[in-house]
Amino acid sequence: MPHAPRRVLVTGGAGFLGSHLCDRLIADGHEVLCLDNFFTGFKENVVHLLGNPRFELIRHDVVEPILLEVEWVFNLACPASPIHYQHNPIKTIKTSVAGAINMLGLAKRVGARILQASTSEVYGDPEMHPQHESYWGRVNPIGIRACYDEGKRCAEALFMDYHRSNRVDTRIARIFNTYGPRMAFDDGRVVSNFIRQALLGEPLTIYGDGSQTRSFCYVDDLIDGLVKLMNYDGEDCHEPHNLGNPVEFTMLQLADVVRDRIQPGLAIEHRPLPQDDPKQRRPDIARAAVHLNWRPQVGLEEGIATTIADFRQRMLG
Ligand code: NAD
Ligand code: UDP
Repeated sequence: MPHAPRRVLVTGGAGFLGSHLCDRLIADGHEVLCLDNFFTGFKENVVHLLGNPRFELIRHDVVEPILLEVEWVFNLACPASPIHYQHNPIKTIKTSVAGAINMLGLAKRVGARILQASTSEVYGDPEMHPQHESYWGRVNPIGIRACYDEGKRCAEALFMDYHRSNRVDTRIARIFNTYGPRMAFDDGRVVSNFIRQALLGEPLTIYGDGSQTRSFCYVDDLIDGLVKLMNYDGEDCHEPHNLGNPVEFTMLQLADVVRDRIQPGLAIEHRPLPQDDPKQRRPDIARAAVHLNWRPQVGLEEGIATTIADFRQRMLG
């Protein structure tokens, strides 16, 4: 085991990324408290851990304070896909902001190290490409994505202020689009939509002309980056670190990758581009590469194949 065993709180632990993080922490020998309100997470994602004496599942909403004795906190609680976070935008802001205050307060009280799952959305629709951590972003503060983008930006400000004012031992990961097994079928994200549609033989829905880009990181790589960042206590450890795969694809290219693997002749159906949809997205990961010795290892073809196998098994039995 690489590090001393810790007692770790994972908020949002029954979600897509959270459940993979719980798996990794348990495999590393830690004790895990998985906290979730099951808004977009599922018990099924962690059911295989329930019998483990080092694992505990807590139903709780991070908008409410909670008293727990832990050494590390990974704060992942927040709906992440546009249709989920826009479903109840005020609740999304409360989750990001009140959730951050409650978890930072907990970390301050017990002297825990705390990592915030921030997002590439803090860069908005960026003019700087690729996006380096020094870029302040271009976010529409009153648009339909603002509940998520501004909530996450405010959480980052809180993390920096709790560190500066109260010496809380904070970490901030700016996560770029991540995909893999256990993504919810109905989360409306492009990877889950395309795979579900292709498996059902339906046309792939492309919003706009499909020339917009994203950089897709496989979940195992992302989890490895989160754990490395939590363990890192070197230079600038409290500054944000981009975590994502720097290989960039248009949505048309992604559609081809999925079609090639499932049904090459499948039709494409164009739909209107949602408001404030970022045109391009690619992380500059030099900081994480130098500080954490971290680089994604799984290419899109390989990661998509594993994700398709998982969807096929869950959807079609
Ligand atoms: P997800 O929706 O699968 O997981 C979020 C989890 O948080 C769910 O289990 C949900 O039930 C829980 N949750 C939501 N509100 C809560 C609340 N008020 N109290 C307690 N639990 C609550 O999404 P994910 O993709 O696993 O994302 C996890 C985190 O990573 C989020 O904070 C998200 O913003 C961040 N992130 C994810 C991506 C990505 O591509 N997946 C990209 C950038 C950032
Ligand atoms: N998108 C698409 N078809 C879909 C779902 C999404 O073309 O069925 C586009 C969406 O407009 C965006 C990109 O894919 O440009 C990524 O969308 P997603 O919701 O996965 O992530 P985000 O926009 O939050 O990066």
